[in-house]
Amino acid sequence: MRWEGREGSSNIEDRRGMRVPGGRGTGFGCIGLLVVLGISLLTGADPRQLLGLLGLVEQVTSQQAPVAQQAPVGQAPAGDPQAQFIGVVLKDTETTWNTIFQRSGRRYSEPTLVLFDGRVASSCGLASAAVGPFYCPLDGKVYLDLAFFRELDRRFGAPGDFAQAYVVAHEVGHHVQNLLGLSDQVQAAQQRARSQEQANALSVRLELQADCFAGVYGHFNQKTLDPGDVEEGLRAAAAIGDDMIQKQSQGYVAPESWTHGSSQMRVRWLKQGLTAGDPSACDTFKGRE
Ligand SMILES: [Zn+2]
Repeated sequence: MRWEGREGSSNIEDRRGMRVPGGRGTGFGCIGLLVVLGISLLTGADPRQLLGLLGLVEQVTSQQAPVAQQAPVGQAPAGDPQAQFIGVVLKDTETTWNTIFQRSGRRYSEPTLVLFDGRVASSCGLASAAVGPFYCPLDGKVYLDLAFFRELDRRFGAPGDFAQAYVVAHEVGHHVQNLLGLSDQVQAAQQRARSQEQANALSVRLELQADCFAGVYGHFNQKTLDPGDVEEGLRAAAAIGDDMIQKQSQGYVAPESWTHGSSQMRVRWLKQGLTAGDPSACDTFKGRE
């Protein structure tokens, strides 16, 4: 990807090095929190409650960390190439979604991206780095520990800058869903669902749409891509498919418990967004799959 020397977003909140008081660090395997947030979006339950119930994320109380833990929002610090890279990717998502929203007469409200290390206090609770990147719909912020990209490389075998850009753009995709009220619609559908399996299936569609939205970002920024970049993104999408993760972690595949979709589905929808470059081509809610 061509990003060096390019302008970065001014919506970066750098909380790295900030101590989060209280409680022990809770690790629960990457993408766990995304799942919980997905479920809570669908069920209408307060994610803080759900996470607390599952013991995944500690409840943020006044005795522990202040809910409104914040750092100044601005550009990524100079002399920090990895943070600056994320800043440029975030900026590109802003340009993409500002353009798309303007076309339909809407205003895009840009999300803040919080960089943290170790632990972070979001409006969705206190999370440890082990959760992987996540979007908190309650404060409209994307949370990212850069250490996740080492995981993506070593554990998931998906290195490369566009693999990282895909992850950021997927989380931004959840923000877009939030702004468009799609998350709310899915939540309403979820409340009518008769089983957990049905609920999970809706979560999969929401996640695949975020993958497709990430593809739309890629389409709009084709000129910044190098040969092989798209493949890096597709490899990452395949690596974090539910079937791959289940095979790796439990040795068998249980489709009814999927919340994000199989490798094949994730690759398909990322490709769809990349090719179409249009969010209206990302209707993962119609059709059988
Ligand atoms: Zn997601």
